Amino acid sequence: MRITVLGKSPSWQDAGGACSGYLVEDGETTLLLDCGNGVFAKLRERVDYTDVDAILISHLHADHILDLVPYSYALIYAPRQQPVPVGGYPGTDNPARPRLIAPSGAVDTFHQLVGSWGNEDLIDIAFAIEEYDPAETVEVGTLRARFQEVPHFTTTFAADLSSNGTRFTYGADCGPNDALVDLARDTDLLMIEATLPRPERTGERGHLTPGEAGEHGRRAGARRIVLTHYSDELDADACRAAAVETFGGEVELAREGAVYTL
Ligand SMILES: [Zn+2]
Ligand SMILES: [Zn+2]
Repeated sequence: MRITVLGKSPSWQDAGGACSGYLVEDGETTLLLDCGNGVFAKLRERVDYTDVDAILISHLHADHILDLVPYSYALIYAPRQQPVPVGGYPGTDNPARPRLIAPSGAVDTFHQLVGSWGNEDLIDIAFAIEEYDPAETVEVGTLRARFQEVPHFTTTFAADLSSNGTRFTYGADCGPNDALVDLARDTDLLMIEATLPRPERTGERGHLTPGEAGEHGRRAGARRIVLTHYSDELDADACRAAAVETFGGEVELAREGAVYTL
């Protein structure tokens, strides 16, 4: 399994960066995990967007879904995707129509988003949308995805991807919790957010500090942890140091273009 960081920024992009997006490749299987603003261009630098088997969405925040809009325009209007189908793609042979595996309520959210300026069904025409049941396992080629709801400001699911006994766990966005620790138990690599320099001042938790991220990795017994979803306006060395202390071992910081082979 090969994971490439396409975007690791929080809800606003780093200079030259992209919000959440991770390319997961396993043999012939290509999966995009989240598709935040800036991700589509980064994806295009690495793979043909028509070759992506599925996009998996952790939650319906802008920084995890916004580039589904340009991705949809490409799938519908790119010359090689012609002719533009009437009423959708099912049964047609040539155009690519990747699976879009998203939380319950996604279709309504996409309609509200795109409907603010145009035909609301843009995303559901471009992709084959499946709203997942988090209690069930989803298979994409050789990858199996399990889900776990985690505390955030909207319904959010962490995902554990496995193939042939190798595991990659993605914590999505989350505040401190035990559920992610259980999902990530003994994982080969935990990609975990470390958004905050300090806990939210409001008291309502929805993100982690680097120290908390390291602690979650230690409690899960993760073999490797990679911190992500942190801004380039924070001190990266301080982030890493705080996580090393609580994880009790080496900690990596996601950067765009980084590749992890498991
Ligand atoms: Zn979020
Ligand atoms: Zn986010």
